[in-house]
Amino acid sequence: MPLRRLHTRLLLAVIIPLVMVSAMLFPIFNVHMEMRLDSLRAKADDVLKIGQEALTHDISESINYTLAIAETPGIRQYLTVQSLPSLSDQQYALSDISQLSHFLNTLISHYPRSTKLVVIDNQGREVLRAPSDVETGSRIAGNNHSKTDYFKEAAKLLPRELYISPPGHNLQYELYDNDQAPTVNVATPIFDATGERLGVVLLSLNWHYLTHSLQQAMLLEQDANTILIDAQGRWLLNVAFPELGATAFGDNFATLAPQYWHVMQQRSEGFASINNHLLRFQTEDIRTHRNRSLAGTIFSENIYSPWKIGVMLPLPTWRTLIEEELTVLWFLLLSYGFAVACGIFWAFSSHRQRKLREDAQRHALEVSDLYENAPCGYHSLDQSGRVVNMNRTELAWLGYSSKEAIGLIDYREFITPETREQFEQAFQNVKDNQTGSAECSLLTRNGEQRHVMIQASAYYRNGQFVHTRATVFDLTERKQLEEKLHAQAMTDPLTGVFNRRYLQAQATIEMSRARRQNHPIALIAIDIDHFKRINDEYGHDVGDEVLKNFTQIVSDLLRQEDLLCRVGGEEFAVLLPNTAIEQAQQVAERIRISIEQATTTVEYEDTQQALKVTASLGVTPIHAREKSLKPALKRADIGLYEAKENGRNQVVIYTESVSTSKPTT
Ligand code: GH3
Ligand code: MG
Ligand code: MG
Repeated sequence: MPLRRLHTRLLLAVIIPLVMVSAMLFPIFNVHMEMRLDSLRAKADDVLKIGQEALTHDISESINYTLAIAETPGIRQYLTVQSLPSLSDQQYALSDISQLSHFLNTLISHYPRSTKLVVIDNQGREVLRAPSDVETGSRIAGNNHSKTDYFKEAAKLLPRELYISPPGHNLQYELYDNDQAPTVNVATPIFDATGERLGVVLLSLNWHYLTHSLQQAMLLEQDANTILIDAQGRWLLNVAFPELGATAFGDNFATLAPQYWHVMQQRSEGFASINNHLLRFQTEDIRTHRNRSLAGTIFSENIYSPWKIGVMLPLPTWRTLIEEELTVLWFLLLSYGFAVACGIFWAFSSHRQRKLREDAQRHALEVSDLYENAPCGYHSLDQSGRVVNMNRTELAWLGYSSKEAIGLIDYREFITPETREQFEQAFQNVKDNQTGSAECSLLTRNGEQRHVMIQASAYYRNGQFVHTRATVFDLTERKQLEEKLHAQAMTDPLTGVFNRRYLQAQATIEMSRARRQNHPIALIAIDIDHFKRINDEYGHDVGDEVLKNFTQIVSDLLRQEDLLCRVGGEEFAVLLPNTAIEQAQQVAERIRISIEQATTTVEYEDTQQALKVTASLGVTPIHAREKSLKPALKRADIGLYEAKENGRNQVVIYTESVSTSKPTT
């Protein structure tokens, strides 16, 4: 999961800068692009204008040239002579013909756009031609132009009117510089000074030559491509249309490049964007006079006119724009690279931070869990002893919630009055010396006590006491166990009464207390009579039952402060604090009587048996001077021995001198 997050961040680090840089640069480039488009349009306008002027200039010149030839006096004169039937060729000096031929040849050679110049009489017969062999005369015998379009059209025209054939129309191609070149025929009628129609002059022009300057003019602009088509959609140039490659003069542009054709058909002029090119085009009609010539009306084939002239310039693309603006490209790359680098740095550092944060959170949780649920209690107290923090374990021991305890309770309230002193001492130590420990008892909410060991130190910040930090170990169980073991060590397991060790320990306490308070204290020794017989007759288990019943009977007779102990097999001792020897004798007598009167019911051989026993007792006072129980025990035993000797089931008092108490029966 974290790895996937890193991938996503890295992806964002690449994409976001890309989007931002693009969003920032897009408007700038867009404005740049608009400016480039505007200047491209202006350029297209200029190029088209230059081309259009070059074309019309050349055509005007040719028209003027043709008109000038038609008005040449020598030609008029020659045609006049030719038209007079009475005159023969001989009457027109050969030298004049030669001169005229020379003149025409010179004209043609100085006007390289033309392929031929022909003077035709009214019957359509060719009378003069240039270029021609001057020596043999210029007239080509038998050449008749009467059926040609240019002758038929020009023969109908008025002075200074012209007919121009469509370029290359009706396969009028002529050999020119060893190439078949399409021609344009320009024809105009010849009149004499009186207005008599004499014939027609035809000037054939090399169309490629004529459009050469148009193409040159347009090619001044690099990447510019020229378009020239007639009204039928025929391609009129000897250069290929760039989109189609193989286009040749006369090819049908309308079918080869319908997109362009469609646009150029729709409007007379304008702009269009086609196939990454800007097209600027306009209509060019040579019949309407913008040719700066002296010509009158110009006629041509209606279906081929007018032409469309156009220029095509490549549109600027983002790529070319960037390629041309290398500074911008570098800026773009640097901006993007910088943004991506920042993005990647961000991705890695935030990924690492996140990991650290997660580790820290996990660690904090573990520490908190350890603190809250430790097997010991933790708490912090302020200067006054008020709880500022306490873990769940200790709260559970005390039976409080954190809301009830933290910030509200003084910790002293949990300490029992008996152990408060130890606590206060340790608390003061912590505040003074920074460490302290105390074994205390805590009072829980439900009234129980918990014995604990508190070990604490002080937490200082900037040299200032902030609070104590204490660890609390629960010693209750240990204490209980100790007490249990202690009790076990002091108790007789069969009868549950105390044993000899306890008697001795307790006797020391009671004796010193009796001494302090000047109270008498007495001891009774008891031995069951003929107990061996019970064992022998009924078995050891029955003997045990009798022993248990015996202790029960004696215990019931005693006061709270009296202490019954089993000191031997069937031998017992009773310590009677605050009891004079007379009272002790009475107690002994009561015991003797109760035992004598009591029966113990036991199971023996599947029947219930009621057993009776008696006991002999020796009673003695414990003297204040005595430091141990030993002498008293001895005396009591002497009394007891006496009682046995005297027949058992009796009480004998032995102080120094022995006195006997007889059985009551
Ligand atoms: P007397 O004291 O009257 O002279 O006679 P006795 O039979 O009581 O004296 P003795 O001291 O000879 O016998 C004591 C008997 O107590 C011996 C022993 O078997 C029995 N005894 C001691 N401890 C136990 C005990 O824990 N359980 C049982 N069942 N018998 C015990
Ligand atoms: Mg005995
Ligand atoms: Mg006995």
